[in-house]
Amino acid sequence: MTNKQQNRPPGSEYEGKAFTFQQIQESVYMAVGTGNLVVASNGAIVINDDNVLVVDSHISPASAWALREEMKEITDKPLRYVVNTHFHFDHCHGNQIYGPDVEIISHEFTRDMIVAGESNKGKTYTTMMAGLPQTISDLKAQVSATTDQAERAELERQLQIQQNYAVAADSVEPTPPTITLTDQLSLFGGDREIRMIHLGRAHTGGDVVVHLPGERIVITGDLIVDGTPYMGDGYLTEWIGTLDNLRELDFDVILPGHGQPLHGKSQIDNLQAYISDLLSKITDAHAAGTPAEDAAQSIDMMAHAGNFPGIVEVGVSPAAVERAYELFDQGN
Ligand SMILES: [Zn+2]
Repeated sequence: MTNKQQNRPPGSEYEGKAFTFQQIQESVYMAVGTGNLVVASNGAIVINDDNVLVVDSHISPASAWALREEMKEITDKPLRYVVNTHFHFDHCHGNQIYGPDVEIISHEFTRDMIVAGESNKGKTYTTMMAGLPQTISDLKAQVSATTDQAERAELERQLQIQQNYAVAADSVEPTPPTITLTDQLSLFGGDREIRMIHLGRAHTGGDVVVHLPGERIVITGDLIVDGTPYMGDGYLTEWIGTLDNLRELDFDVILPGHGQPLHGKSQIDNLQAYISDLLSKITDAHAAGTPAEDAAQSIDMMAHAGNFPGIVEVGVSPAAVERAYELFDQGN
């Protein structure tokens, strides 16, 4: 067995490539999962004169390992910095693969949450992972039920991917960042300045965006995504103002934590309008004493479907409503 194979983390066997790299500028790439391995979030790769900075370590040691291996297609420079944009498991659960030569940077809140075990014991992780055993058993049932050879092959492939993910998730040991910031931290790589900025609370209490002023690119994690972001740990009333702060930065392209690159600033307006409308509807439901679960089913956000094609029916995520109620009850 080669050294490389020995270092391969559990659940990292996959066919083909785990990532595609979209070149945004000469030495800036967005890494998007192909589906051959569960990676869940996007990554961004910034190649400096002497080293590489990666934004977000994905969902498991296996996915972080796959990125580091496949990145060799685009650079032979060493990975030196990793940024965790926030504490959610799909952005920081690869941290444990990095050695002492890699610094992991986050907001201090993100580090506190990872140290406290929130990334793998908190309600977001527990809720999002709850369906995995069922997904696996459903796929097994579908494999044995189908009589079509091609369909069986595809179902078996999907089953393998999910089983790999279960193995990979079991191997996670949440690993805290080594450098934290409260407001802003800049790194200088040759001529390039890389700014890590906390613009205020939004998707979590410690979101960090990575701004490349020279390239006019901002990498946002889930503060803004291609679609509507998960809100279960969000600060809905503050999110709108934080997006105002994002708008103030000079950039042409957003590389979001999920989905495709966003050009220009119109998605900021769209998301602010969505959150503002959602907040007002949740406020009404709360004032009327409607249980969160019922409110989530009846809140109608279809007016925003033009900006967010993922909205296809009445109803919103119960996690968003529960979170807003929690904040109201705390006086936020
Ligand atoms: Zn997130």
